[in-house]
Amino acid sequence: MQFNVAQLLKETVGAKRDHQIDEKFEPEEEGVLTISGPVHLVRTRRGIYVRTHLTGTARGTCSRCLKPIVYPIELEIDEEYLQRVDVTTGMPIQVDVPEEEGQFSIDERHTLDLSEAVRQYGTLALSMKPLCRPDCPGLCPQCGRELGLEHVGCGQEAIDSRLSILEQLKAAGDQPA
Ligand SMILES: [Zn+2]
Ligand SMILES: [Zn+2]
Repeated sequence: MQFNVAQLLKETVGAKRDHQIDEKFEPEEEGVLTISGPVHLVRTRRGIYVRTHLTGTARGTCSRCLKPIVYPIELEIDEEYLQRVDVTTGMPIQVDVPEEEGQFSIDERHTLDLSEAVRQYGTLALSMKPLCRPDCPGLCPQCGRELGLEHVGCGQEAIDSRLSILEQLKAAGDQPA
């Protein structure tokens, strides 16, 4: 996810490059698995503007039924990477934006590294609550099993409180004296 942008930095504002990324990750547990899509770079006055719409997959757990799942994610990265070194002279460029957190820069070798942005946007995408399927009914508060068609037998399905009292009375009445 590193692009050498030395040539693009020599061009005029508005000059463009298109790249494609196709990355695989191996998260230990939950995390981004794959990410791919076009990366558009545009020369700006202060550096290079990066615009991407990446799609991919992540491994996680369904936020309702807690099943392990692989689900789709999307990352829309829109960031300006500031130029800090002149591409011809190698001299530092004074920019009015300090090198603070959240502001990306092109390094002194004119490499624009997308990894950190992908990591940050990826973390955001992972914090969305994924579902194993859109209508996942979740878990039964009574027995902890998955609700739905196959969920029968724990008594949670159709108990109405009056009926439940009757059943308790009946059960008590059945006890041997
Ligand atoms: Zn689920
Ligand atoms: Zn149940």
